[in-house]
Amino acid sequence: MQCLCQPVDGQGNTLNPASLLNSVYRAVLLHEVGHELGAPDHYCYEHISGKDEFGNCYNSTCWTCALKLQVQPICVMTGNITDIEKTSIETLFCNSCKNTIAAHIQSHH
Ligand SMILES: [Zn+2]
Ligand SMILES: [Zn+2]
Ligand SMILES: [Zn+2]
Repeated sequence: MQCLCQPVDGQGNTLNPASLLNSVYRAVLLHEVGHELGAPDHYCYEHISGKDEFGNCYNSTCWTCALKLQVQPICVMTGNITDIEKTSIETLFCNSCKNTIAAHIQSHH
């Protein structure tokens, strides 16, 4: 996820607050709601403050270090979707997260 203090789009242009609310902020909210429903982070912890004493990624659901996938999943939990309005509802979450969320909803609600 990019820093929300100086939001920029994919071309490096600074976003105005309305653009931020309309794109990145909504994706962040959806990502956080995903956590509430049991979906894990897919992104690497190597470059954020939460790395372990050896500087290694400890995220057990990191798509690259832990899951060792060749291709980054298309999923809001990866942080690679920043404009949810332009993304099909079918691909906002990957199949793994959809299954996790469905199981969570079934057992709690
Ligand atoms: Zn997260
Ligand atoms: Zn990682
Ligand atoms: Zn996912």
